[in-house]
Amino acid sequence: MSTTSAHTRYDLERVRADFPILTRKMRGKPLAYLDNGATSLKPRPVIDAEVSYLRDISANIHRGVYELSEQATVLYDEAREKAKRFIGAPSDGEAVFTKSATEAVNIVAFSWGRKFLKPGDEILTTEVEHHANLIPWQEVARQTGAHLRFVELGPGGIITAASVEAALTERTRIVAITGMSNVTGFMPPVAQISRLAHKRGAIVIVDGAQLVSHHPVNVEELDVDFLVWSGHKMCGPTGVGVLYGRRALLNNMDPLLYGGDMIVRVYRDRAEYKEAPDRFETGTPNISGVIALGAAIEYLEEIGMEAIAEHEEHLLEYALERLAEVDGITLYGPREGRCGGIISFNLGQVHTHDVGSVLDGEGIAVRTGFHCAQPFMRHLGIHGTVRASFYLYNTREDVDRLVTALGRVQEVFG
Ligand code: PLP
Repeated sequence: MSTTSAHTRYDLERVRADFPILTRKMRGKPLAYLDNGATSLKPRPVIDAEVSYLRDISANIHRGVYELSEQATVLYDEAREKAKRFIGAPSDGEAVFTKSATEAVNIVAFSWGRKFLKPGDEILTTEVEHHANLIPWQEVARQTGAHLRFVELGPGGIITAASVEAALTERTRIVAITGMSNVTGFMPPVAQISRLAHKRGAIVIVDGAQLVSHHPVNVEELDVDFLVWSGHKMCGPTGVGVLYGRRALLNNMDPLLYGGDMIVRVYRDRAEYKEAPDRFETGTPNISGVIALGAAIEYLEEIGMEAIAEHEEHLLEYALERLAEVDGITLYGPREGRCGGIISFNLGQVHTHDVGSVLDGEGIAVRTGFHCAQPFMRHLGIHGTVRASFYLYNTREDVDRLVTALGRVQEVFG
C-alpha cells in the first residue's frame, strides 16, 4: 500500500522510515498513530542525540573546566540558539528551558502575575484553553484579587479579533490565549489579537503547545509577549518545554524557583540574580532532553514547517471529506478560519472510550475524553470527544483505516 500523497512536498516514505515505532504492530495490526495532539513520535536523530549525550558525555553543564563538561555546555547552548531561531526570537535570553509548556505558563502566571497584578485587574482568556493555560490564571487571580474574564465564543468555539476586542477593558492586563486549540485545531488570529491587546496596554501570552509543533511561528510577526511550547509534541522528548518572553519582561519578573546557577552573588542573607534565561533555570536542567529538542528542531526545519503544515492541511481536508460518509458522526469545532490537523467527533451515543477501544483493536491510536479542556466541553454541551490528530508522518491510509474502523464501531454498538 502506497503512503505517498501528491500534496506532500517531502518524501513521506522516507520520513516514516525515520520513526522506529511506525514499524511496530499494535494488536497485531500496523500502527496508525493519530494521537499527536497528546504527544508525537520521536525520529531516530532525536533518539540518537539523547542517547549520545547520555552515553558519550553525561557531564553537567556550565560548571566544568574539563572537556566533557565543555562539550555538554556547547550542545546545551546550541539547543537554545536553535529554539530561539525556530520561533524567531530576536534577542539573547529570550528562550527559557522549562520542563513543559505547563511549567512555562506557571512561570508567567506566578513570576509576572503575582508581581504585577493588582486587585480589580483583569486577565482575559477563553473557555477553549487547555487547563494548562487556565488553572494557573485562576490561581493567580485568586491570590492577587485580579478577575478572570472570558472572550465570548462563536459557533464551535470560534474566537475572532472582534470578540476579543469586545472583551478588552482598560483593566485588562494580560490576554492568555491558545495559538491552536487542542480540541478542534482552531487557530485564533493571534497577530490581530496582540495588536488589539497592546493598544489597550495589555500584554499577551500565547499557548503554543499545539501551534509551534505544526506551523511556522515567528514571535515578531505575531507580536506576542510570551509564547510557551512543548518539546514532546514536536518530535522531541518529554520533560522539556520552552518559554519565550520579551527580554525586558523576563528580566523584570522574579524567579519562580531559587537555588544554584541562577545567581550572580550570594551573601548570608540575600542573593543577586542573573538575567533571563538563567534566572528561571535553577538547578541541573534536563540536559539530555534539551539537546534532543535541539535535534528535533533541526529535523523539523530540514523538512520545513511550511511543508508539514501543508501536509496536515491536506490530510485534514481529506479526513473531513471521508468522515462525512460516516453515519451518525458529529464533528466539533469551527470549520471556518484557520484550523490545524485536529478533528474532534462523537459517534451517535457511543461512549468515547468505547470508540477508542474498538479503534485500538484495529491498531489505531486516538485520544478520548475531555482533553484537559473541561470548560470547553461544557460550552459544547458534551462530556468528551474522540480526537484524531495528525502529524508529518500520517497518511491518507491512516485516515481510511480510521473511517473503516468507525464502521466497525457501529457494527459493535449498533
Ligand atoms: N496547551 C495545549 C494546547 C496542549 O495541548 C497541551 C498538552 O496537551 C499543553 C498546553 C500542555 O503541554 P505540556 O505537556 O508540555 O505541559
